[in-house]
Amino acid sequence: MVAQNAAGRVISEEQVGRLIGRLKGEIFLPGDAGYDAELSGFNLIAQHRPAIVVAAVTGDDIAAAVSFGAELGLPVGVQATGHGIAAPAEDGVLVTTRRMNTVTVDPLARIAHVEAGAQWHQVITTAAYHDLAPLNGSSPLVGVVGYTLGGGLGPLGRRYGYAADHVTRIRIVTADGRIRWVTPHQHSDLFWALRGGKGSFGIVLALEFRLMPVQRLYGGGIYFAGELAGRLLRTWQRWTQHVPEEMTSSVALLRLPEPVAPGYPRGRLAAHLRIAFTGSEEEGERLVRPLRAVGPALIDTVGEMPYSAVADIHHDPTEPMPYHERNIVLDRLDHDAVENLLALVGAESSCTDPMVEVRQLGGALSRPAEIPNAVGRDGAFVLSTLSRPSSPDQVLTAMSPWGTGRRYLNFLAGPDTAEAAAESFDRPTLERLARVKAAYDPQNLFRIGHTIAPRS
Ligand SMILES: Cc1cc2nc3c(=O)[nH]c(=O)nc-3n(C[C@H](O)[C@H](O)[C@H](O)COP(=O)(O)OP(=O)(O)OC[C@H]3O[C@@H](n4cnc5c(N)ncnc54)[C@H](O)[C@@H]3O)c2cc1C
Repeated sequence: MVAQNAAGRVISEEQVGRLIGRLKGEIFLPGDAGYDAELSGFNLIAQHRPAIVVAAVTGDDIAAAVSFGAELGLPVGVQATGHGIAAPAEDGVLVTTRRMNTVTVDPLARIAHVEAGAQWHQVITTAAYHDLAPLNGSSPLVGVVGYTLGGGLGPLGRRYGYAADHVTRIRIVTADGRIRWVTPHQHSDLFWALRGGKGSFGIVLALEFRLMPVQRLYGGGIYFAGELAGRLLRTWQRWTQHVPEEMTSSVALLRLPEPVAPGYPRGRLAAHLRIAFTGSEEEGERLVRPLRAVGPALIDTVGEMPYSAVADIHHDPTEPMPYHERNIVLDRLDHDAVENLLALVGAESSCTDPMVEVRQLGGALSRPAEIPNAVGRDGAFVLSTLSRPSSPDQVLTAMSPWGTGRRYLNFLAGPDTAEAAAESFDRPTLERLARVKAAYDPQNLFRIGHTIAPRS
């Protein structure tokens, strides 16, 4: 015996030996030097503890790992960066993809081809060289594949839609161990489900997606002291009713362990306005004026910027940290919703959560994708919270009267969010996803993470 999973099932030396014989990459078993390092990820709230880790370097490695799990009846999961961990794998096979990270761009076709382990900063840099931009999210360290399969809501969202809307082809290993191309014409049901349904249907080896002709933005962030949080949120709420869809923005209320500006006290409430406008500098400046008028800024970086500096808009943390992330989609943000939210998390509240953010949806995020997919389209805003592990879901519960009843799949992280994956879809979409799952993974091999159970 070389390993035993949580269910007490033994994996024999011979079985492991056969797997190694099929791999170009390495494997790690519990207790091996390198096992912990291979599993380290961004969110420290949880760490996978699988019976076996396959550090894949080729698509065939991933296919071998999937077949190994299927033969032994072990669940199979995948980790690229660990930004989106849900319930950690306690046993089974975990494929790590970080070594498979080639990114290529076809500038004439405006298409990026990206391997499973690539991070957004690689695509941003490669695309910028050709005056193009991907539909990445707020942090360039997030994995391209996990983000895109979960929808992909970024600073160009209201202008161009979700990242998933622009995927053109997917290379995947399904539960039967086969490598397939999935396109609008081949396995079209799977093509629909993968774009929004995330990691339930197989392990993606590579994605192809369209890039946008964006080289610059009028964008950045403005930090205000906590006393101005109420004024900012009230002004922003009215402002969002009139802005064009070239404007994507959000407001975050932050209580961060590090100062947001030199001399600003750690942990003290600050409000952060995030702006990404694809129109002209003059028009951007005019649009942002009423928000600047809220009061003196601690820091104001909003201005002309190359798209490649997009990480400066949200200024997300880059060092691993533990957090729970949860959210609800709001169907409106009216005056009462803002007052309620401020009472819960504003300057007068007892809130200590490190971040509460409201992002405006609408524009292209509300319109169906050219080739329909499983991403939810209802809602005008998404409200997300980063909380400490033990703190309950009070803010989102109190804001639920303004909710659509749906969540946004990508803004769920931490062990208590695994079940919430199913709440990211309306009923017909969930039923259809469960049928596609039953067709491609009837044994529910891929059940680690935010996944959907099969149902015929
Ligand atoms: C700082 C930060 C900023 C973020 N900003 C945004 C944002 O602006 N917009 C947004 O939409 N999301 C955002 N997210 C959420 C992010 O998109 C999700 O957490 C996403 O799942 C991360 O994917 P990953 O591969 O990096 O993470 P991992 O933890 O490695 O993977 C998470 C899950 O992604 C799926 N997955 C990953 N690789 C594959 C694969 N090859 N095949 C099949 N499934 C796979 C699996 O379900 C896996 O369990 C942010 C997260 C963080 C921590």
